[in-house]
Amino acid sequence: MLKKTLALVSLFLVGTLLFSFQEKPKVLRTIIIDAGHGGKDVGARGAFSYEKDICLGVATRLGEQLARTAPDVKLLFTRTDDSYPELHTRARMANQNKGDLFISIHVNAAPPVQHKEFTGNKTVVSYVGKGKKRKKVTRQVPQYRYYSTPNPAKGTETYIWGAHKNEDKEIAMRENAPMLAEENFQQNYGDVDVNSADFIALSLLKTKQFFKRSATLAGLVEEEFAKVGRVSRGQRQRQVGIWVLQATAMPSVLVETGYITNRAEEDYLNSDKGQEEIANCITSAVKNYMGWLEKNQISAQQGLTTGVQKQKDAEAFLNSIDAQERRRQTVR
Ligand SMILES: [Zn+2]
Repeated sequence: MLKKTLALVSLFLVGTLLFSFQEKPKVLRTIIIDAGHGGKDVGARGAFSYEKDICLGVATRLGEQLARTAPDVKLLFTRTDDSYPELHTRARMANQNKGDLFISIHVNAAPPVQHKEFTGNKTVVSYVGKGKKRKKVTRQVPQYRYYSTPNPAKGTETYIWGAHKNEDKEIAMRENAPMLAEENFQQNYGDVDVNSADFIALSLLKTKQFFKRSATLAGLVEEEFAKVGRVSRGQRQRQVGIWVLQATAMPSVLVETGYITNRAEEDYLNSDKGQEEIANCITSAVKNYMGWLEKNQISAQQGLTTGVQKQKDAEAFLNSIDAQERRRQTVR
């Protein structure tokens, strides 16, 4: 009897061991790191620096830290130097490499604050009437001084593609401006209207499929920023613009790492300490995100069905833009 029990116990142990050695499905295989702007597109301007350089610095450090933290994950970069891959190319590269996560690094900017200050009245003399009836009239005209001061806005924001918000239009336009400035914009994007029904439909599909994952990561990123004492302006949603988030067939976030228009933050964003800290926060967030995927048993494989469908949709969309343009060129 004892022998039988022992045999059963050891069989059970061997079984458990074998089971635990079975490879767990990977929750994340490929991460695309996108340093915003680049080359002739400098992005937002600060007192002494450009957004594009900060983006590249943070993206490079993020890559180094992720490689150490998650050595099994394949990392791909949309750019590793001061070049400007078109947004079209970035999205296609991410889709063709079947990325499981797209992280876009940016820097925020806020317009200067305009002031109007009363400086006193000015006596203005004028004359009414003609000849003997001519009369001198004096009146007081208030004088103002107009000036602007740097916008004190500071802190981080992490965007995902989502619900419609009008106030985000301005930011969206700024982030999409380089796309409009691309020399072969017409060829690559045609007359694509990011507010068109087709584009919205494609994007809504993406929202449904990847919203929860994108939102979870965005929340985790902001959590990490808050932990190190940054002003976290939170996880936000954007529907207008952010072409690169819309055209990528995977969960995606856009991190605004700080304000270049705030002098203290500009110093921080350009410093080794600042860039390392930002990269560290995002790395911790990705690590926690992977834990969340594991806990919820959402594997990369599991997402593949919708991922492939979304990739097909995204490709079809990009192709339709090309076709549209070819048709236009034949007409000309
Ligand atoms: Zn930007």
